[in-house]
Amino acid sequence: MQFNSITRNSGRTSPGTSVDNLREIGQGRPYDLYPLRGSPYNRDVSSGDNLLSRPSGDTLLFDADDTLWENNIYFERAIASFISYLDHKVHTAEEVREHLNRCEHATIAAHGYGLRSFRRSLVNCFEDLSGSVTDQQHQRILGFADSIAHHEIELLPQVAETLAHLSNRHRLILVTKGDPVEQTGKLERSGLAPHFTAVEVLPEKHDEAYLALSALHRCDAARTWMIGNSPRSDINPALRAGLHAVFIPHDFTWVLEHETVEQAPEGQHLLELKSFQELLQHF
Ligand SMILES: [Mg+2]
Repeated sequence: MQFNSITRNSGRTSPGTSVDNLREIGQGRPYDLYPLRGSPYNRDVSSGDNLLSRPSGDTLLFDADDTLWENNIYFERAIASFISYLDHKVHTAEEVREHLNRCEHATIAAHGYGLRSFRRSLVNCFEDLSGSVTDQQHQRILGFADSIAHHEIELLPQVAETLAHLSNRHRLILVTKGDPVEQTGKLERSGLAPHFTAVEVLPEKHDEAYLALSALHRCDAARTWMIGNSPRSDINPALRAGLHAVFIPHDFTWVLEHETVEQAPEGQHLLELKSFQELLQHF
């Protein structure tokens, strides 16, 4: 098997992330599992499907936001409207944005990811910079956040077609973070749910979360890949947990997800792809 994109071998190993350790962590489960109806795994491979180069039977873990569908652009639009509405006479738009980032750090640490935290961050930011918030202003600010809640799901190019091919040959599991109701609601609206055998909505996607879900789903680390747009949440912690990774950058990845992509430890693989469809050349 030739991995000709980016297969970075740093020569270092990650202590505590062996397959044996993956197996040991399976006692109890810290996260909720959302089993889906009608798993397509192991169904017959469609005829004429000759692009695929890996043998079937891998486990592919997929990030959702900004990997399968647009997400951060809606937040960026809401934030632009918020900054325009605040119309601060002293602080520049960049300074307001930096303060909002600090507010988001704090609310996420205290209350987790999701729209409720985003609403709270906007209100806190407005209050910090303006000194107070009237009822009318409060309602207007909530409106910026609520504009995100019910937008149509806009799939990224070729996602539906690519997942349909991949689910014929591999086990697909959705691994996202945030509010379970919000994330599973987006999945249902996306129409992609039938391609996944399971969905994990995690409070945070860190090394331990990947170790726990690998144990829970009995993933063979040597045949498990995490695929996503975020170095901080998808790529680096998955590599540290002993898995392979596929990095598909998105031009508008949330600033809080930015991080330098680590090298793959020896024996693991990291691919960087320009488009989702390129997955078919590797799997
Ligand atoms: Mg993402």
